[in-house]
Amino acid sequence: MIHPPDEPTRLGAGGDNAIAWAIGVTADEWTLLILRYALTDGVTRFHQWQELLPISTAVLTARLRRICEVGIFDMAPYADKPLRHEYRLTPRGMSLWPMMATICAWEGGWAHGQAEPVPVMVHHRCGRAFDPLMACSTCGETVEPREVTGEFGPSGSWPRSAPNTTLRRRSSGSSTLGPGFFPHTRVLVGNRWSAAMMGAAYLGAHRFSEFQRRLGAPATVIADRLRRFQAIGVLRTVDGENRPDRSEYRLTDKGRAFFPVVMTAIEWGQRWFIAPEGPAVIFRHRGSEHPFSVLLRCSECGGVLAGREISVVPRAAVQPRHGAIPS
Ligand SMILES: [Zn+2]
Ligand SMILES: [Zn+2]
Repeated sequence: MIHPPDEPTRLGAGGDNAIAWAIGVTADEWTLLILRYALTDGVTRFHQWQELLPISTAVLTARLRRICEVGIFDMAPYADKPLRHEYRLTPRGMSLWPMMATICAWEGGWAHGQAEPVPVMVHHRCGRAFDPLMACSTCGETVEPREVTGEFGPSGSWPRSAPNTTLRRRSSGSSTLGPGFFPHTRVLVGNRWSAAMMGAAYLGAHRFSEFQRRLGAPATVIADRLRRFQAIGVLRTVDGENRPDRSEYRLTDKGRAFFPVVMTAIEWGQRWFIAPEGPAVIFRHRGSEHPFSVLLRCSECGGVLAGREISVVPRAAVQPRHGAIPS
């Protein structure tokens, strides 16, 4: 299927929904890192990614091809002898900025001890280093993750949302990457099963059997992800009367703080991959009667953020900020 870069892809009836597409496109360690440098540093050329990332030519070639196929980059020649192309973000690609901004903020606020600090985002309008705050686009209020409820819409169901086996790719082996490459985000959404597990946790899965039933994943995969999520402190167990089979897995504050990343990824999916039946998931602002969609506000001036009004600078270049996510 050709994915037009500036209009949504029309999906077939009964097939993968927007969540499956959002996971299938973005939940890959190398793709996240390639997109990070495209969105925050304006990287467009093959050799630039090779200088920034310990990535092989074969893997980078395959990922760039895939990113072009799904309409996030388009290719334009910049030299003709020999012919070379650069990869430019399309409108579909540019609209991933809220996801990348919320990843940067979460890594900066919650994933400590990195050798290479996460870069800082500066808001042009107020000139200050900021964190994006999640707000409701309907009423404009800033909201906590607990204040957002989600339920499946007409194209939503677990089978239609979970990673599609025909899309799944072999692990890239980038777990050897050093710090500075969004280490905790990669644990949570660096591959498709992990991303689906996080989605299930936000939609209320607490027990091993609930994760397994919803995802239809092998037990070894579920056990592995639960262990890794606990190791970085996004889930904690609540024992059920000393019976391991009754243990519950609960999101910690750190886990809940990641919600804006998942929310912005799903919104991106629903904007660009349209199922004929309707949305995959419908969010509501808890305690109100209205739907919820994300608006990101500047933590410093309160203004509504726009991707073109944000720059990314090395952390050392700015004064310590106020209003950072508490650790
Ligand atoms: Zn609202
Ligand atoms: Zn601002």
